[in-house]
Amino acid sequence: MTGILAPRSSAHTHQGHKRKQNQDSLHMDDGHGLWIVADGMGGHQGGEIASAIACEVIPEQVSTGVGIAAALQAAHGEILVRGNRQRELLGMGTTVVVVREQGNDYELAWSGDSRIYRWRNGQLSQCSEDHSVVQRLLKSGLLTEQQARNHPHQHVISSCLGSTADEGLEIGYRREHWFRHDWLLLCSDGLTDELDDEQIAAILAQHDNVTGAGAALLQAALDAGGRDNVSVALIRAPDDAPQGRLSGRNQGFFRRPFCPWLLAIGGVLVTALFVLT
Ligand code: CA
Repeated sequence: MTGILAPRSSAHTHQGHKRKQNQDSLHMDDGHGLWIVADGMGGHQGGEIASAIACEVIPEQVSTGVGIAAALQAAHGEILVRGNRQRELLGMGTTVVVVREQGNDYELAWSGDSRIYRWRNGQLSQCSEDHSVVQRLLKSGLLTEQQARNHPHQHVISSCLGSTADEGLEIGYRREHWFRHDWLLLCSDGLTDELDDEQIAAILAQHDNVTGAGAALLQAALDAGGRDNVSVALIRAPDDAPQGRLSGRNQGFFRRPFCPWLLAIGGVLVTALFVLT
């Protein structure tokens, strides 16, 4: 870390080398502990509008006390309403990944194939599970990891905000604990289509701050082809998050304040016993 003023988060986005617009949107709010990456799709600026609606409606909803999964549902409804109102926007949609922090805990919610990863002790783990046809085949054992990666339909998603009928909307949700020095990576598929998990981990391992790491990930995706819009958001754990490798119970034990008077009484008792015997 680079000191007390080092930012909690960094955001980098680029339209890439092939696309004419950047339809990804980001919402970064360190103050309220809310971070969003949304990857829009749909012609006539529909994708851009859908991802922007997600980044507008979700924070609004959360600020009124609505839970993040319900906030995604509300954004989905708003995208459908706006799409139905303007013919050229009909069918627009967006994937979304959201992190909401509450003290040393955080919640994750997502729909579609944008991803959330955790970087802890040099290990990269995917926290979200893609809502995609290929992921379903992988889970049911019909595809191997390698086959999934090269599958011709790997971009076919099974859910996203806006484009899916209400009953088909899938929302993933998890609640986790921060450990000190953890980072979370939120990204659109423009990053993960160009770089595999090993390449992402190798880049993260070369950086000790989220700003440098985010810029390097974006550049690597562009260097690898930049065929899609690329968005990368990195968030680091709060400075007072507990040290890793301890359970919650143990953290409480180790953080209990040191009591010198207790030690003094113990010392007197031991000495008294020694003298008396
Ligand atoms: Ca994309």
